[in-house]
Amino acid sequence: MSVYVVGHKNPDTDSVTAAIAYAELMKAKGNDYVACMQGATNPETALVLERFKTPDPQILTDATDKQIALVDHSDIAQAPDNLSAGEVVAIVDHHKIGDVTTNNPILFCAMPVGCSGTVLTTLYQMEGVEIPANVAGLMLSAILSDTVNFKSPTCTDADKAAVETLKKIAGVDDTDGLFMDMLKAKSAIEGIPAIDLLNRDYKDFDMNGKKVGVGQLELATLDQAAPMRDDLLKAMQDAKADGRHTVLLMLTDVVKEGTDLMVVSDDPAIIEGAFGGKLDGVSMWIEGMMSRKKQTVPNLQNAFGC
Ligand code: MG
Ligand code: MG
Ligand code: MG
Repeated sequence: MSVYVVGHKNPDTDSVTAAIAYAELMKAKGNDYVACMQGATNPETALVLERFKTPDPQILTDATDKQIALVDHSDIAQAPDNLSAGEVVAIVDHHKIGDVTTNNPILFCAMPVGCSGTVLTTLYQMEGVEIPANVAGLMLSAILSDTVNFKSPTCTDADKAAVETLKKIAGVDDTDGLFMDMLKAKSAIEGIPAIDLLNRDYKDFDMNGKKVGVGQLELATLDQAAPMRDDLLKAMQDAKADGRHTVLLMLTDVVKEGTDLMVVSDDPAIIEGAFGGKLDGVSMWIEGMMSRKKQTVPNLQNAFGC
């Protein structure tokens, strides 16, 4: 029976490449593992797969009657549908521990590092399996993406060490150049429907019984999003109308290293309190905010009393 390896909904580069890397590791050890993703690749991931000549993983959205390995998440809300009708056999992650539970002991490898690619580099080393050059390129790209080229507060020494290892195997000299190519691909948002931009890197969280959605767009400059703000707000309002207490969109300026946080909420004051900011219309600039995982979500959890 195959094991299907899959990252979170609205797949990002780490989610897709970690599925490939873990499937390849397990295949090298003689197991039947298949890399999957829960939806189409985003422009950044498409560029990375092409650059390192790797085919798209297959689409998997329903876990019914399947053995599943989760990468880059352990939250039921972000996992394939009907997870309880399948069986989770492994989790490789770098987020807070989510709400997935199992009936049997499994491999559960979570490390407080900047990227699943870094955890996987460690797993390859532990297993003594050589990392294929294309897989090294994919994991390298994921680390640069998740750590925003080492600028995110999520970045650790382990991520930097993994990049040093992986760039040699992948034959990539200029990691800054690779990051800029990826940033160009992901921040080209002109002409893309607002709802697609909101959903591109979007996660729902349960905050003390309230559904809170947080999207993020990483931009080379906020000007790129300026003409789209009204449309983005409308998309956020539509998402909120669909049973959510709050929808946030982080417009993150990767160069200035901060985020203009757009807010649609039943209780805007709780969001202001969470970040110690004051809304100017529907958004507020938060200096230094780069990471949803390490900055946005923990502050929200505190504010919502989780
Ligand atoms: Mg991810
Ligand atoms: Mg990740
Ligand atoms: Mg990310």
